[in-house]
Amino acid sequence: LALFGPAPGVPSCPHGPALLFVKTSQGRQEGRRFYACSACRDRKDCNFFQWEDEKVSETRLAAREEYNRNHQPSFTHRQNVDRYKNFVLLPLSKRRFCQECQQLLLPAEWEKHSDHQFLCNITTTQLKSPSQLLYPLENKKTNAQYLFADRSCKFLLNLLIDLGFRRVLSVGTPRLHEMIQLKASQEKEFSVRSLLLDIDFRYSQFYTEDEFCHYNMFNHHFFGGEAARETCRKFLYEENGERVIMVTDPPFGGLVEALASSFKKLMAMWNETEKEGHDNKEMPMFWIFPYFFESRILDFFPSFSMMDYQVDYDNHALYKHGKTGRRQSPVRIFTNLTPSMIVLPEEEGYRFCTICQRYVSSGNQHCEMCNSCTSKDGRRWKHCVLCKKCVKPSWVHCSNCNCCTLQKHSCEKSDVGCFVCGKAGHKRSACPSLS
Ligand code: SAH
Ligand code: ZN
Ligand code: ZN
Ligand code: ZN
Ligand code: ZN
Repeated sequence: LALFGPAPGVPSCPHGPALLFVKTSQGRQEGRRFYACSACRDRKDCNFFQWEDEKVSETRLAAREEYNRNHQPSFTHRQNVDRYKNFVLLPLSKRRFCQECQQLLLPAEWEKHSDHQFLCNITTTQLKSPSQLLYPLENKKTNAQYLFADRSCKFLLNLLIDLGFRRVLSVGTPRLHEMIQLKASQEKEFSVRSLLLDIDFRYSQFYTEDEFCHYNMFNHHFFGGEAARETCRKFLYEENGERVIMVTDPPFGGLVEALASSFKKLMAMWNETEKEGHDNKEMPMFWIFPYFFESRILDFFPSFSMMDYQVDYDNHALYKHGKTGRRQSPVRIFTNLTPSMIVLPEEEGYRFCTICQRYVSSGNQHCEMCNSCTSKDGRRWKHCVLCKKCVKPSWVHCSNCNCCTLQKHSCEKSDVGCFVCGKAGHKRSACPSLS
């Protein structure tokens, strides 16, 4: 399944303009292209489908529009903001949260939810930590909501403050947004602001239209239309010298091309806020993503580099911090800022390589031959003279394939690169990076 970016005049599903895909088999494109939902890779979540060359009748178009309207959330963002205002006026004993509907309940609505599980006595602290109150949407293919561990979230926030940023465009990072909002409400001197863009509409119950936009990062779709777009544009305008950085942690589903296209549009939005277009600079960005997507990200953003910092998560058993034999997180920070400015914590074993001019993980040795610190996963890599580069410690050179790979592999060739790591010789299902 290969894909093409969002194009004008494309059909829409409830998640905005669809993306154009093409069927591939054995690395060969089969020609017939089709539109499918940009956000939901699981057909169960959104079954929108249309052949590119399909003629769609007026009746079907009308039915589809109707369907799209009916599949919007039951309350608008505006209504949710009003509901919140009423909710906080309630005494603690009347503050209920329906766990099944993931919704704050007003007393008049209790009846309707009477056979649902609910939490009572919702405190102000809970309201300010929605990522703790809401259950994470773990559906791998669609939402893949993996929340930052406190350690990683604090690290990110302190890092961007130390770098001098005062505004954070949080794209798919509800927990970072929450930490910023919480601090801003508690500490007088704390002057960082955040705008959350996320497809998870549950957050509209807790944030105003200036704090949250319902947004699809696979097709750059603002569900709130022009008003929401304008909120984002205003936020990106650097008033009083308040510098902006975008931080994003998308689902790892693999639509790197679609993500890159949306992020370029957000960058363009930032550029347009200044008459001089920021002297052709790029909006500073942290893109948090697994290391094995490095080549794919660099294809779209050649100015980016990958930092060694291991980002870890609360609700992901595999993606927790290394140390004492636990699994190491493969998730890294990709950024267009100068690598030497990204200071990684020495108490966690990171050190500065003066030759590479960046912080690296403790196991990452500087290779004389490559003239760089080559490890991607934190383990010490070994140099292969035949490949003329460093490879994972577990790999061996295969003279058949003419490259280093896993000892156990089948030497069949495919000319099309892997969708995950971009390398030839295997398909995404067999990508050694994912094993
Ligand atoms: N680590 C982050 C959460 C990352 S999980 C944190 O703790 O803040 C991925 C996030 O992207 C989730 O919040 C999810 O709701 C959001 N997301 C998933 N698909 C999306 C889409 N198509 N558009 C926008 N946001 C999306
Ligand atoms: Zn959809
Ligand atoms: Zn080095
Ligand atoms: Zn090397
Ligand atoms: Zn080799």
